[in-house]
This record gives sequence, C-alpha cells and structure tokens, in this order.
Amino acid sequence: METEFVHESVMQAILRDRRIGYAITDRDFNVLEVGDPGVGATDLVAGAAGCNLIAETPELVGCETALAEVLAGSLSHFQLPWVNRELADGRLAYLTMTVLPARGPAGDITGLLLVVQDVSEMGHLDQRITQQRNELRLLEEKLRRQNMQLEAQNAELRRLDEAKSAFLSIAAHELRTPLAAIRGYLELLLDQEAGPLTQPQADYLQIVDSSAQRLLRLSNQLLDSTRLEMGRLDLTLQRTDLAVILRDAIRELAPHFAAKAQHVRAQIAADLPACLCDAVRAAQVVSNLLDNASKYSSPASTLTATLRRANEDGFVQLAVHDEGSGIAAEAADSLFTPFYRGPAARQGAAPGAGLGLYIARSLVELHGGRLWFESVPGAGSTFYATFLVADPPSAA
Ligand code: ADP
Repeated sequence: METEFVHESVMQAILRDRRIGYAITDRDFNVLEVGDPGVGATDLVAGAAGCNLIAETPELVGCETALAEVLAGSLSHFQLPWVNRELADGRLAYLTMTVLPARGPAGDITGLLLVVQDVSEMGHLDQRITQQRNELRLLEEKLRRQNMQLEAQNAELRRLDEAKSAFLSIAAHELRTPLAAIRGYLELLLDQEAGPLTQPQADYLQIVDSSAQRLLRLSNQLLDSTRLEMGRLDLTLQRTDLAVILRDAIRELAPHFAAKAQHVRAQIAADLPACLCDAVRAAQVVSNLLDNASKYSSPASTLTATLRRANEDGFVQLAVHDEGSGIAAEAADSLFTPFYRGPAARQGAAPGAGLGLYIARSLVELHGGRLWFESVPGAGSTFYATFLVADPPSAA
C-alpha cells in the first residue's frame, strides 16, 4: 500500500515536472481516467471521465483510421507533433500528442492511452531560433548586396583612379616637350647667342627660366607619382658612391642656398662604403631633402648633411639637418602623403606641390631602405634616409 503511494506521488511529480497529461479510454473511446498532474494540466487533456475522447479532442478528428489501427494492434502508436492550442488561461501552447494502446492485466488492448505533453518552451524556443535564423538570412542577404555594391564602387574608383593617373601621366609628358624647347631657347637668349641683352631683359629672362624650371620639376613629380601608383617605376641598381651624389647635389643647389645666405656643411665618414642604388633616383632623394631643408628654414641658417654607416647593419645613413621651422607632431603622419603641404608651405613662402617627400620615401623604400624624420618645432628638423651597402661585410 505504502509502495503504491510512493509510485503515485512519483508519477504525479513526473507529470507535473514534464507537463504531461493523459487520458485512458475503453475501446469505444469513452474516457475512463484523466491524468491530473495539476498546474493547468487539465488544459492538456480536455474533458473528464465519461466523455468521448474524440469529441473532446478536435485534433484527433480525422485520425479515426490510425486510432482503429492502434486499437487493433497493427500500429504501435501515432503522434501529432507541435499541435498549437490556446489553453484555458489564454496562453498559446505547443502540444505533442501521442496515442498508444492501453492494455489490460493480460496484455490485451482494452482501449487507448492519449499522452499530451506541453512542449511550449521548446516550441517558443524553436520559433525564436527560426525567427533569428530568418533575420540572419535577411542580414546576410543585405550584407551580400552591400558587398556587391561596394565591389562595384571600388571597381569604379579604381577605374577613375587609373584614368586620373593616365591623364596626369599624359599631361606631364606633353608638358615636358614644349618646356624643354622653351628652356633650350631661353638658354640661347641668356647666353646672348641671339644678340646682346640689356640688364632688365636678362633679369626678366632669368625669371622666365626659373618658372620654366619649376614647371618642369612639377611635371616630373607628377610623372613619378603616377609611375609609383601604377607600380611602373623601375630602378637601375649599381654600385654608387653617395658621397659624390651628395657633393654634386650641394653644388647644383648652391644658387638656392646662396639666395638665402645659408651655409651648408657636408660631413662624410672616411670609411663610407658604396651603396646599391639607382644613382639618378638617389640623387633625386638627396636633392629633395636638401631643397626642403633650405626652403623651410630661415635665411643665414646652417644646413648639415651627414653620410655615415647606419646603426642598422648593412646600411648607409644620410641625415639632412636644418635649423628651420620644424614640423608639428600632428603633421607627422600627413607629411609623406601626396599633395600634403604644411602651413608655412601653404602660405606661399615656398614653391612646391607637396609631392617631394611622398616620392622620396617611395624611392628610398623601393631601394630597400627607410626614410623618416625627427623634429623639434621651432628648432629644426633632421630627415634620415638609409641605403643598402653594395657589399655588406658578411658577403666580403
Ligand atoms: P613641398 O615641399 O612641395 O611642399 P614635400 O613633400 O617635399 O612637398 O614636403 C611636404 C611638406 O612637409 C612641406 O609642405 C612642408 O610643410 C613639410 N616639410 C618638408 N620638409 C621640411 C623641413 N625640412 N622642415 C619643415 N617642414 C618640412
């Protein structure tokens, strides 16, 4: 008796915990017993003892053949999963209904056992997962469309960029030919080969010549930057004496330094090894750094160019120091981007297009070296460039 009570209470606990209700019928589907797990479980199995199961359970209408097969023992069970039903408390529930044979003590089928489980938690979870999956799919689709749009826009940007580079390259080329002719005839005139010049005439022609030089410099820079962007700038590497290049650059820029009464010092280490460089391009870098040092420092200041072995093994280091305006820390990142000009340059004090450092750094990096600067605003700057030694000691 006591054991029976224990079994009974265990069963009640399971029915309550798993939210399971049940009904047992006779062979005519008359309900004999309804499981009572409590807490709304009476909602799960409609009706009570004495009523007809099919009349009380609309979901079973139409399943009579299957029910008859379960009764006959030819079908072990059948199930209606995810039945949607509004319970007496107004809650929308998901139920799983299973119909099994009910057996007597001798094992004969005496009727049906309907087991109804409230699987709402799982159902709602499943519904949420489905909803989230759908939202995810929508997002994926949106992302895919945006990616496609981005790709198209990128392709268009690339096309425009290439068109811009091609245009600049053609324009720069076309500028150079007439400029060369202008400079050639100017030289003839200035050399007085076409007759004597008065002093004002010579002065004016000098101005024309320096403007033509600036134009030529600009078209060369535009050409270089488009070549760099298109990856079409080739170097001719050979053993190069950077000391010679530095001295030549100082000599060529002497008129600039003289115009500002600037003093230039060259400090060249006695044991300076030869470097592996494109001599023309290395000269371009050296001139650019010297020219900037002169442009961005005051008259009568001193510029110092130093060539020595770099701390980094296998490199020679060029340092160009000036006593100029210096560079504000916030400009450090922009300095090497094309067309960037600092405040002093923009105020019109110095000619240029903001391409020099961009080209110089790209050239040094193409050589396998680095270009950077240190500066104390108001007190001057030092630009450093490293070049690979032609025969590093390890290879010697
Ligand atoms: P540009 O001289 O034509 O303006 P650069 O690319 O050579 O172009 O230089 C970019 C900017 O970097 C300059 O406009 C100037 O503001 C700054 N700059 C370059 N060199 C120096 C220097 N030695 N001292 C101070 N500012 C410099």
